[in-house]
Amino acid sequence: MKNVRTRFAPSPTGYLHVGSLKTALFVYLLAKSMDGKAILRIEDTDQKRKVEGAVEKLIEILDWVGISFDEGPGLGGDYGPYIQTQRLEIYKNHIDELLAKKKAYYCFCTPERLDKMRAEQQKMKLPPRYDRKCRDLSQAEIEKKLKNQEKYVIRQKMPLTGIIKVYDELRGEIKFNAKELEDHVLLKSNGVPTYHLASVVDDRLMEISHVVRGEEWIPSLPKNILLYQAFNWTPPKFIHMPLTLNKGGGKLSKRQGDVAVEDYKTKGYLPEAIINFSVLLGWSPYGKISDDKKSGDKFSEIFSLKELEKAFNYKKIGTSGAVFDIEKLDYINGYYIRKKPLDELVDLCMPFLKKNLKKTTDKKRQTGKYIKKVVAIEQERLKILSEIGELTEFFFSDKLEYSQDLLLWKKMELKSVKSNLEKIIELLEKIPEQNWTNDSIEDSIYTYLKAKELKVGEYLWPMRVALTGRKASPGPYDVAEILGKSECLRRIKNAIDLI
Ligand code: GLU
Repeated sequence: MKNVRTRFAPSPTGYLHVGSLKTALFVYLLAKSMDGKAILRIEDTDQKRKVEGAVEKLIEILDWVGISFDEGPGLGGDYGPYIQTQRLEIYKNHIDELLAKKKAYYCFCTPERLDKMRAEQQKMKLPPRYDRKCRDLSQAEIEKKLKNQEKYVIRQKMPLTGIIKVYDELRGEIKFNAKELEDHVLLKSNGVPTYHLASVVDDRLMEISHVVRGEEWIPSLPKNILLYQAFNWTPPKFIHMPLTLNKGGGKLSKRQGDVAVEDYKTKGYLPEAIINFSVLLGWSPYGKISDDKKSGDKFSEIFSLKELEKAFNYKKIGTSGAVFDIEKLDYINGYYIRKKPLDELVDLCMPFLKKNLKKTTDKKRQTGKYIKKVVAIEQERLKILSEIGELTEFFFSDKLEYSQDLLLWKKMELKSVKSNLEKIIELLEKIPEQNWTNDSIEDSIYTYLKAKELKVGEYLWPMRVALTGRKASPGPYDVAEILGKSECLRRIKNAIDLI
């Protein structure tokens, strides 16, 4: 297909919802995979929802995940302006065309009348719908009201009967009964268009070939198609993506956790992981989303943005709702963390380690070399960057806080913990500083325990707790190597003093 053009058309709410990121990603991938252009258009006609600096923030976070647009505000392009409130004149002209063609009409009903009408409909358990009072006003009546400067909106003149057939690229033909449709507002009384008019006019003028948007817009499709027909325009292809659901199957909302991509960034999720996770919320190289589970190999779900740009095929977007499974996101994030070159990972972890660095007065434990070793030991099990602070705190703290009982392995008594730790000190002291590696530490302790047929856990558990103050941590030899000989001995002596 020639000249593929897609658009991401968010309202500037001040943050990027994870569901909108999915739309942005699919818009971007569809364009890239078909050698087309992706356009960013800001739909700010709802002034109540407008937030200062929202557009800049939006571009910044999209940039962070690696999604860039070919045209848009601040990006240039031949189809601008790309901000709807800067296009009001264009909409006005199109409204005039619809009025002239009798496909739209003036409605002078006051908000009070409409409220009353709605209240009555509610009482009678009827769906709230405009009663079309102004649909057949005569030209003379209209002119008189306009002369009196009565406030008005412009409504779309919908067919009263029949079936409206629309087509979604993923679902095929969808039928709507005209009776279900309302003469909805196209232009508000302040001269600003509604989404319905603005999006159709812009999609046409910006030569959009594929409209990719959320499934919640399917009910708008007949209204859109009727507008295309009214203007005598060929509609673009419509692709409605499956909803993003919470685990309970409901709408993903702030109440159940973070919904802003910015929040995930702050917590320490990597852009690669967010992209990879988002694409799987509705697309799979294997076709339907449920099918990918059959492959059984989680690694077959790992894709970089670059790979997706080639592999993506919009026909493989699923239609059933996709669950936002945070455990899956954590898994994918952990995968990308493991793949990170260590130096890069250290840089990424630094903001989350600042607090820890303040916990020691030991300059050696504030050096880049030490921090690198600490990050390296956690790289395998780290799932979210922000966890690095908590996980590695003991590497930095001058004083570990833990209770005596934690030193006990199974049915041990404190008395033997003490003598076992003393033995460990004795063994460790014999290892020369220049030979202080996890292997030599292991060698020295293990050889002794084996020769004497002693229980490994009764020595290694108290040793590990003395070094970390934790129930769970990396193994004692690795920790000991990183801490260094003198700090190790100091910590074990502190544990003995606790008893
Ligand atoms: N402005 C609409 C939104 O924020 C865009 C819907 C569409 O893509 O057409 O959801």
